[in-house]
Amino acid sequence: MSNLLIRGATDPEGRNVDIAIRDGRIVDAEDAEAAEVIDAGGYMVSPALVEPHYHLTSCFVEPDELVEKPFETQIDKLGRRKQAFTIEDTVERVSRALRIMAARGVVHVRSYADVDGYARMVCYDALKEARGRFAGIVDIDIVVFPQHGLISDPLALGLAREALQDGARWIGTNPQLERDPDRITREIDLVYDLAEEFGTRADFHCDETDRPESLWIEVVLRKGLERGFKGRLAVAHCMSLGKQTAEKRHEIYAMMRELDVAVAVSPHAGLLYGDAGAFMPGRGMAPVKELIENGVRVAIAQEAFGSMFAPHLMLPDPVWSAQLMAYAAKLFTDEGLAEAWRMITENGALLSRREGHGMTPGSRADLLLVRAANPAEALTTLVPERIVIRDGRVAARSTYHEELISLQRQEPS
Ligand SMILES: [Zn+2]
Repeated sequence: MSNLLIRGATDPEGRNVDIAIRDGRIVDAEDAEAAEVIDAGGYMVSPALVEPHYHLTSCFVEPDELVEKPFETQIDKLGRRKQAFTIEDTVERVSRALRIMAARGVVHVRSYADVDGYARMVCYDALKEARGRFAGIVDIDIVVFPQHGLISDPLALGLAREALQDGARWIGTNPQLERDPDRITREIDLVYDLAEEFGTRADFHCDETDRPESLWIEVVLRKGLERGFKGRLAVAHCMSLGKQTAEKRHEIYAMMRELDVAVAVSPHAGLLYGDAGAFMPGRGMAPVKELIENGVRVAIAQEAFGSMFAPHLMLPDPVWSAQLMAYAAKLFTDEGLAEAWRMITENGALLSRREGHGMTPGSRADLLLVRAANPAEALTTLVPERIVIRDGRVAARSTYHEELISLQRQEPS
C-alpha cells in the first residue's frame, strides 16, 4: 500500500499519469491503493522546482542605489556591507527567501556562501544553520564562494579550505574579478586545485559581460577537460558567447557537451544590468536557443532577491523566472515553453547534481502540481494554484480566488 496516490494528473509531455508514493519515493502505480488520494484532474504534475544558482545570503540586504554602478563598484560595496552581517541576521534573511521559494515549489537551492575577508565564515555558517532549519523542506547545497578572489583577498584561501574541510561539495569563483589576465588564469587553476584536493565539484561565474574579448569560459572548459572534470563542473552567465564567431561558439558547445556541463543563464541580470559601467543596453544573455539546439542543457540563474543590486523585482519564483527566460530567449512556442519548464525542473537538478529528481519509479517524491494543462499554460498564467509534495507529503498548497463583481450585478435575477 502506498502512502499517497496522485490520480488523474497530466505530465509535462501531456500524458495522463497516476503517481504512487511510498516512504518518500515514487513506486509503480499499478493497482496502487493509498492511504491518501489527491484527485489531480486539471493539474500538471512535474518534478519539483530546483534553484541551481542562488546567493541566499545576499537577500534582503538594506537597499543601496547600486543598479547603475559599474559591476566592480557593486562588488566592492557589497563587501563592505558584509562586514556588518551576523549569523543571526543572515539566517533570518536567508529564511525569508527560503519560505517564499518553499511555498512555490522549490525543494533544492544550490547557494553560494561568500567566504572572504569581509564576511569571514558568517555566510557559510548561516547557510549551515538555515540548512538545518529547513531540513525536509528545502535542501541547501553550499558552494564555497570566495567572492573577492582567492588571490586578491589574502584571507580567502584559508577560509575556503576551512569550509571544504567542513564538507562543502562545491568550490566556485568569479575569476574575472581578479581583473588582470594572469591573475584570472591563476584563480581558475586555484579553484580546480582545491576541487581536486577535496574531491569536490567546481563552479565558475564566467564572462558576466558582453565584451567579446572576454572569453574565460573557453579557458575554464579547456582546463576542465585537461583535469577530467566531466560531470563535476557548473558554469554561469557566459554573456559574451553570443559575440563570438559561429566556429568558436560551436567549439565551445562541443566542450560543454563533452564535460556534461549545464549552463546557468540569468535573464534577469542580462536585462537589468548594463556592462562596464553603462546602464544601457543590458549585458544580454548567452545564446540560449543555440545552446539548446546544440545539446547543451540550460538552467536559470535567479541570483538573489532584495539584494543591493536590485532591491525590487527578481521574485524568487522559478515559474516567473522561466516566463522571463521565455521572453528573453524567444521561447514562445509550445516546445519552447516546455524547454523553459525543463530549465526550472530537470535541468536545475542536473546542474545541481541532485540525485533521484524525476518521476520514474525510485525517484524522490518531490513533486509540483500546478493547475494547468501543460508547460505553455503554466508559464503563461504563472499558476497561482499549486500543490507542493515533498518527501511524499503535501508540503504547501496555494489557491486562487477571483470574483468579477461587476458582471454578477448585470446578471438577471
Ligand atoms: Zn551568481
